[in-house]
Amino acid sequence: MTTPAGRRATRGIALLGSTGSIGTTALRVLDRQRDRFRVSALTAFANSSLLEEQAARFTPSFVGLVQNGGSHAATWHVGRACLVEAATRADVDIVLNAVVGAAGLDATLAALEAGKRVALANKETLVMAGDLAAAAATRGGGEIVPVDSEHSAILQCITGRPRDEVRRIILTASGGPFRDWPAERLATVTVADALHHPTWQMGRKITVDSATLANKALEVIEAHYLFGLPYDRIDVVVHPQSIIHSLVEFVDGSVLAQLSAPTMELPVLYALTHPERVPDTGVRPFDPVACSPLTFEPVRHDQFPALQLGVEAGRAGGAAPAVFNAANEQAVALFLEGRITFTDIARAIRSALDTIAGSPGGSRDAVLAADAHARRHVRGLFSC
Ligand code: NAD
Ligand code: MG
Repeated sequence: MTTPAGRRATRGIALLGSTGSIGTTALRVLDRQRDRFRVSALTAFANSSLLEEQAARFTPSFVGLVQNGGSHAATWHVGRACLVEAATRADVDIVLNAVVGAAGLDATLAALEAGKRVALANKETLVMAGDLAAAAATRGGGEIVPVDSEHSAILQCITGRPRDEVRRIILTASGGPFRDWPAERLATVTVADALHHPTWQMGRKITVDSATLANKALEVIEAHYLFGLPYDRIDVVVHPQSIIHSLVEFVDGSVLAQLSAPTMELPVLYALTHPERVPDTGVRPFDPVACSPLTFEPVRHDQFPALQLGVEAGRAGGAAPAVFNAANEQAVALFLEGRITFTDIARAIRSALDTIAGSPGGSRDAVLAADAHARRHVRGLFSC
């Protein structure tokens, strides 16, 4: 789009969770794309010093801090409501939701209801409330474009094709740091082991999720809602190099894939520009020889039960995906605090699903009630 003066009109971005891994990655991308996008709003949880630096550099019209800690500018908006305020502002065209966990739900729903594009990194939102998000998008005219690299890959492969040409999608998984560990060693995993991801640098929660494969379960459910495919047409394969970001099999048997070095800069930018592509100098040129060999392995479901537990929760529907998500969030938090073991995470998820999964999920309140119940259940299981 160009202005009467011939300059391209910039699109306003609200970046929620700007101080995190995706948030800081997004600001690197946006810094290179200032002629296309302006940062209209920034929000962070508690890191006010980094938020202040970011606000000075990008001069947004709105700055929000969820947790009122130390000193901050008088113009900042403080408290949980700042996420929804940022996401629904008139000068915002695209909401990049890079908050971690269920805390991002209301902002996603509000942005969709307000007709915004949601560039969604916060996959937990869609897992908890995929049907509510779809309804909000229909009512308000908003849309979700995925930031998750696997879903970005799929979107890039299917854009421009009728959906009935897709036979199956295959999500790739790095397998995490314990891909080839024997079962008995998994019982000895430390927090430091779990935070040492072989191919991606990410926030702590998703890094643990990648080690348990709960992340891949979240991604299967995310794919189900994003692309409208039944669960038996979504497969997962382990691809340790994280170069092929996912594959799409079409009805004629042809398979397309999207490849790049493992960087989130590319899917972040694509979520902002889809269906267009724009020049960007940030991603290093692809070198197929340096990436070789590219290999695939089956998932070891017996060692990583969280994946199947999540897929079963997705199939069950209702509040089951929200229970899966909340039980996982709570268990990961306890694991990171050193209060439960690595293998306790899947045990906690299974127990929560066995107890609560049948709850209804048809409204925001029902989803949040199931979420709170699952967290209480997991804390109770370990007397925490
Ligand atoms: P992170 O922990 O590095 O950052 C999350 C940010 O969210 C924090 O910096 C903070 O600003 C904000 N936040 C945290 N708790 C909050 C709360 N209660 N209320 C409001 N804001 C809060 O996490 P991340 O790795 O950047 O991941 C963010 C999201 O993106 C997650 O949903 C994750 O699954 C998804 N994702 C991340 C990557 C990656 O490479 N990091 C890749 C794909 C998807
Ligand atoms: Mg992913």
